[in-house]
Amino acid sequence: MVIIIQLNKRQEQILQIVKENGPITGEHIADRLNLTRATLRPDLAILTMAGFLDARPRVGYFYTGRSGTQLLTDSLNHLYVRDHQSIPVVVDEGISVYDAIVMMFLEDVGTMFVVDKHALLVGVLSRKDLLRASIGKQELNSIPVNIIMTRMPNITMCSKEDLLIDVAKKLIDKQIDSLPVVKDTEKGYEVIGRITKTNITKAFVALADEGY
Ligand code: ADP
Repeated sequence: MVIIIQLNKRQEQILQIVKENGPITGEHIADRLNLTRATLRPDLAILTMAGFLDARPRVGYFYTGRSGTQLLTDSLNHLYVRDHQSIPVVVDEGISVYDAIVMMFLEDVGTMFVVDKHALLVGVLSRKDLLRASIGKQELNSIPVNIIMTRMPNITMCSKEDLLIDVAKKLIDKQIDSLPVVKDTEKGYEVIGRITKTNITKAFVALADEGY
């Protein structure tokens, strides 16, 4: 796992020296900065661990040519849906809008996934879908959710092997809050998880925290 760090002034100086003079030994870097080798050791360890520098025994330090942005991209390319997904809240397509509203409060989620009697994905229910259905004089107890849900094939989905960054792009692109994580079976899609904006925000914060 690549670590994202905020470089301090001395680390920036070391990076500059290695960029211009590498390969260069720790001893020589220390000389240029008028510091001891021991003082520099933690900085060199951080720069090497974070992937900015490469160290070769008896040769010295090389600049890897990877910028902070590239390192961030590397890190994002290691975040997979399977490690960040939550448990999905699934309802039967026959339940009423009223019951779905109650369920949404009880489960404390913003989106629920609707399945048929074979437990295969048929729809998505968001807060606004339920609010929209509640406006007017409809009898909420007698309207099934499959009348008001967003239905297949218009559902944006992902698999647990997808990258979180690709899910984030889909959420932005489609202006939605969450995606069902599905398993593709011969009969249809089984819902095995959910990814929301919250999951992605948490992963992003965890990534930043790892650097400190
Ligand atoms: P909210 O309605 O609470 O703002 P969203 O922005 O997620 O929540 O939903 C907006 C609309 O998009 C709703 O009609 C919802 O049914 C639909 N929707 C939500 N998630 C998906 C999805 N993964 N695929 C297709 N449509 C979706």
